[in-house]
Order: sequence, then C-alpha cells, then structure tokens
Amino acid sequence: MNNQEETGSHSHQVQEGLAEKDSFSNPGVREPTKEDVSEQGVTQNKDISGYDQETQADQSEQNQKQSQNKQESYTETVSNMQETSAFSIAEIQVMEAGSIVDISSMEAQILDSLFYSEVPGEEIAQRIAGVSYQENENISMEELRYLRVLHMGFDGQTHIGELLVHESIAEDILEIMAALYENQYPIEKMLLVDEYGADDEVSMQENNTSAFNYREIAGTSRLSQHSLGLAIDINPKFNPYVKEKDGELTISPANAEDYVDRTQEFEYKIDENDLCYQLFTAHGFTWGGSWNSVKDYQHFEK
Ligand SMILES: [Zn+2]
Repeated sequence: MNNQEETGSHSHQVQEGLAEKDSFSNPGVREPTKEDVSEQGVTQNKDISGYDQETQADQSEQNQKQSQNKQESYTETVSNMQETSAFSIAEIQVMEAGSIVDISSMEAQILDSLFYSEVPGEEIAQRIAGVSYQENENISMEELRYLRVLHMGFDGQTHIGELLVHESIAEDILEIMAALYENQYPIEKMLLVDEYGADDEVSMQENNTSAFNYREIAGTSRLSQHSLGLAIDINPKFNPYVKEKDGELTISPANAEDYVDRTQEFEYKIDENDLCYQLFTAHGFTWGGSWNSVKDYQHFEK
C-alpha cells in the first residue's frame, strides 16, 4: 500500500483536547429550565432572569395556557433526556469493541466513564482461554485487566476500543488512551488479538492495536513482554518491527514495507515528535524504536 507523503498531517502534538471535550457537555441537561424555556420564549417562568412580572400581568389567558403546555412538554423533555443519557452509558458499555459511538451530545463526565478497567469476567475468560491466554506459571488471568476506552479512528469517528494489559500498567494505559483520544490521535483499530485468532501477524497486518498475547518472541523461546500484558503495539502496520541480519531484512507485518524507511514523512508514523511516544515515555515506558539491535516502532513496554 502506498503511503501518503503529506507533511504536516502526520504528527499529533498536544492540542487543546480537554477544552474541546467540554464542549460535548449538554447544558440542557444540567440547566434545562432556563435554557429550554427561554428558547421557547416563555416568559412566565420565575427562573428567567430579568423577567418583569409587572409587565406580564395583563397577559391573556391564551398565553398562560400555552405556557402551561410548554412547561409540561419541557418536563417530558427533561425526563427523556435523562433516560436517554443513562441508557446510553449502559448501552455503550455492552457494545462490541470497534463500534462507532456518537459522542456529540455527551457530557465530559460521561465520556470519562467510558474509560475503565475490570478484572476479566466470565465472558472475557471464555473468549481468551486457549487463544491469547494459555495456562502457564507466569501470569494468571486475574493479573490481567480488561480495558474499555474510546479512540479516534482513521475515519474521524469515535470508536470503542478494548485492550488486555497487566494490572500494573492498567492505570497508565487508561490515562494515555484518554490523552490520545482527547487529542484526536488516530488509532485505526483496538480489538483483542483474539479477534484474529491470537495470530500476531494477521492482527498487525490489519493494523490492530493490541497488548496482551501469551507468546514467545518470534524466533526464540523467550517470552515477549506481551505475554505478561506489559507491552502494547500501536498502529503496527504503519510502525513495523524491522530487523536486519546478515543483510537480510525482516519486516513485521509483512505488508508494512512502505513504512520501513523512517526518514520519509507519512501519516500515523510514530517517532520522537509523536504524541504517542511522548505520552508513553512520560509514563515510564520504553519505545522499541529506540532499540539498537532491532527496531520495533509500534512497540511500547514497561
Ligand atoms: Zn510489541
């Protein structure tokens, strides 16, 4: 696949993501009386500031009736909004990872609640047993955390992401993912590697961002940090693993040839100016792109 040699669009420096997030808040939910009623031009509500009761004394009976009707419909609106809002959180929490979420009417508080971790439950346990999780003496399922987050897809939409990581880095990853999302850092997919049969090569070729996978380091019998849930690969197709031995180049995933030359400019490239690099290293992770023997540009571990 061809990369797009556009300069300027590839780096994702810190922006004012938090401020933007606040604009998701719907003031109508918190202060519905004023806003809703004033928008409809109803002047009989005592909550409206600047309201002059004297001048309204001679209002016709008809107006009063209208006002009552509006007040009733307003009450309905508020209760509907509250129900919708509450329902949405519950609904989103059971949505499949990868789903697109409409965050346009959500309060910042609700968005925050969509970044959380939990001990893998029965459903996750069944999903990963014998796939990304193998019975072993190094890590138990209880030491893992199932994370649900939001991420900005390459399509500019908000997606639900999921990750399995070691409990010791769960908070770090939640904070990093929240910061990436707030800054609209594009991550194409974030699904458990089990969605690809725990086949790392396939997951990488699909540009899937993932963390836990109980496996040995390719070509060795050593365990990867991914086996302990202590490593994460971000946008792997654009940030491949590259090894040169005896003049022979190994590229993982195999379809990432166009992204091996890191002197080129292209979208989704992780380098030291990239927000991903900055956030992960600030949280004490090391970057595979800094290694000498091999380069693993997608990889951060702690
Ligand atoms: Zn990795």
